[in-house]
Amino acid sequence: MTPVRKNEKYILDITGMTHEGQGVGRVDNFTVFVEGPIEGEKVEVKIIKVSKSYAVGKLLKVLEQSPHRNEPACGIYKRCGGCGLQHMSYEATLGFKTRLVKDNIKRIGKLENVVVHDTIGMEKPQYYRNKAQYPVGRVEGELRVGFYAKRSHDIIDSPECLIQNEASARVRAIIKEFVIGRDISTYDETTGKGLLRHIMIRSGFKTGELMVVLVVNGKTLPYREELVEALIGNIPQIKSIVLNVNRENTNVILGKRNITIYGSDSIADYIGEFRFNISPLSFFQVNPVQTEVLYGKALEYAVLTGSETVFDLYCGIGTISMFLSRKAGKVYGVESVEEAVRDARENARINGVKNVDFIVGGAEKVIPGMYEQGIKADVVVVDPPRKGCDEVLLDTLVKMAPKRIVYVSCNPSTLARDLKYLTSNGFEVQEVQPVDMFPWTAHVETVVLITKKND
Ligand code: SAH
Repeated sequence: MTPVRKNEKYILDITGMTHEGQGVGRVDNFTVFVEGPIEGEKVEVKIIKVSKSYAVGKLLKVLEQSPHRNEPACGIYKRCGGCGLQHMSYEATLGFKTRLVKDNIKRIGKLENVVVHDTIGMEKPQYYRNKAQYPVGRVEGELRVGFYAKRSHDIIDSPECLIQNEASARVRAIIKEFVIGRDISTYDETTGKGLLRHIMIRSGFKTGELMVVLVVNGKTLPYREELVEALIGNIPQIKSIVLNVNRENTNVILGKRNITIYGSDSIADYIGEFRFNISPLSFFQVNPVQTEVLYGKALEYAVLTGSETVFDLYCGIGTISMFLSRKAGKVYGVESVEEAVRDARENARINGVKNVDFIVGGAEKVIPGMYEQGIKADVVVVDPPRKGCDEVLLDTLVKMAPKRIVYVSCNPSTLARDLKYLTSNGFEVQEVQPVDMFPWTAHVETVVLITKKND
């Protein structure tokens, strides 16, 4: 028998928070997860799910409020799946992220006494994203353009979003009016029929340029000249309008084919001194302001003097490689997605960067091969996806024994796992710096300086 029962009400002290920002409390030592409360609060909940080892409660009432509680500024906060932490003050969200990183390093990394700095937040944590993606659909004839609800594909119509760049709301409004006025059909996920699926808006924060992408289940858009006129007439910063063809029955937003219907095929933006061309399918960090902070830290931790050979593994379109190139002798960027490497080479060319080579392939394949050939790095930067580094790669780094490894991570738990491996094999962690790349969400980015132990 579990100590809690479905549909019963309980009073809980919230003693912790999950990595997704849910509150955690206990009834007779039995764990209950609740969306909404903050650590330190006393709440009343109704149990909505019981499993063998935990239960899920629905928040009914906050009985004792945390001083960190914040009235969410967004009107659809509770329903939208975008941000998860708007019920906390911004300061408290940063504290939550720091604790999350510390906790993982201790629990999974088994590392005590590691210096974890406070999370670097944004001065203005609003309107920070340079890419907005709005699903489009109709519910009982009513057009909705907005965001998906939490854990679902129900579209919530939302005229404004506090983390998207401001221009995207204006673009959205113009397209919505056009779709209603011309009765353009919208995609239905269940039948696979209907034309307009998504609207994507990308903006260059430093250049001010905007790109509008209409994702269509077809090859054309009726009355498109009229829409182009309405968009560029009202928002002259729009430099590119693209139809992206996606006829697959898939959750992936963009298809492979792009048809430019106005202006150029790409827009430009800068990170630091480097210029990047961004096309509809290019990967580009979504928070350009904090990206500079993050890369700045990575560069600081790399401590380059101009002669070093540096590996930038999981390099994407080569952004970190370029930052490193100015201070290094030679940089090798390794990335598994061929298109990204093509962009990386083009970006290096545009910026006149000559001491970087990009290699296509899995880091766990490419690096052992380079090591066999006698190519070694003095400093290695890794920036893997959520699943972290492959053990074959870590093992090769252990053998190669670079002076420093700078680990950039978007997932504290796999980071901690990999730190455990490296610290058990001749390396030590010097310092850990979390950076808030995604304000108001539970995500945290972390940069770690790891050095070779003196034997
Ligand atoms: N450093 C880049 C991108 C980091 S995202 C930036 O800051 O912009 C992680 C990248 O790792 C993605 O581009 C992904 O395509 C790539 N990737 C995933 N698995 C990989 C692997 N096994 N080897 C090399 N790259 C990989």
